[in-house]
Amino acid sequence: MWTLLCGWAARTSTFPVPFALSRRHSPILALVRTGILGGTFDPIHIAHLHAAETALFAGLDRILFIPTGDPWQKEARELSAVEHRIAMVEIAISGVPGFEIDLRETEREGPTYTIDTLLSFPDTEELFLVLGADAAAGIRTWHRWEEVVDRSRVVVVPRPGTPASAVTASLPGSLRLEMAALDISSTMIRAMAGEGRPFRFLVPEGVVDYIAANNLYAKPESGDMVEQIIREERLS
Ligand code: ATP
Ligand code: MG
Repeated sequence: MWTLLCGWAARTSTFPVPFALSRRHSPILALVRTGILGGTFDPIHIAHLHAAETALFAGLDRILFIPTGDPWQKEARELSAVEHRIAMVEIAISGVPGFEIDLRETEREGPTYTIDTLLSFPDTEELFLVLGADAAAGIRTWHRWEEVVDRSRVVVVPRPGTPASAVTASLPGSLRLEMAALDISSTMIRAMAGEGRPFRFLVPEGVVDYIAANNLYAKPESGDMVEQIIREERLS
C-alpha cells in the first residue's frame, strides 16, 4: 500500500495536472487501478505505447499489455506466432515503469473474450479498459459487452478514422483521453515491412530488429506471386 501511495504521489508531483481517472474510494482504501490494453500486437507500435502512457499518466497504477490468444473477430487473417507477438511486447515495454505484460489470454484455451479476462481479476483491482476509438465504437459487437462495461471503466483514446461521435453513440459513459492522433496500424506496418518500405520509427528500435531477425512480415516468394498472378488471370 505504501509503495502504491508513494508511486501515486510521485506521479502527481511530477505531473501537476488533475487526474482524469479519480479513485473510486479514498487513497487509504484505494484499490489497485489497473489499465488493460489488449491487442494482437502484430506488431506492437508507437500508438499502442502512446495510448498506454496517456492512460497511465491520467492516474492509473499500471498498464497491462495483454496479447490476445485466438481473437475471434480476426480469424480471417493468420496471425504471427504468439511467441513472436509476446516477444515484441516484451522488447517494447522493457524497463518502462508501470508497463507490464500479462499472458492470461495467450495461456487460455479457446477463443479470447475480453469478459473472461476481466472476470479473472480479483475484485480488489479497479479495471480500466483502454481502447482506441475504433474498438470502442464497435464494443457492442463484443461477446457479453454489457458485462464488459459493468466490470470495467472504458477509457478511449482517439484514433483517426473514427469520429468521437461514433464512440459516444456506442458508449455514452466512456471516458475520453486526449492524445496525439496517430494514423498508423499494425496492418500498415506489416504491409510496409512486406514491401521493403521504411517503418523504423513507427515501432520501438528493438522491435524493428526483431522483425528483421525473424523475417516476420516478408512477402511470399516471388515464384508464388507469379503463380498467383497466373491463377488470377485464368479466373478473370
Ligand atoms: P491491426 O491493424 O492488426 O488490427 P492495430 O494497429 O489496430 O492492428 P490492435 O492490436 O488491433 O492494433 O489494437 C489494439 C488496441 O490498440 C485497440 O484498442 C486499438 O483501437 C488500439 N490502437 C491501435 N492502433 C491505434 C492508433 N493508431 N491509435 C489509437 N489506438 C490504437
Ligand atoms: Mg486493429
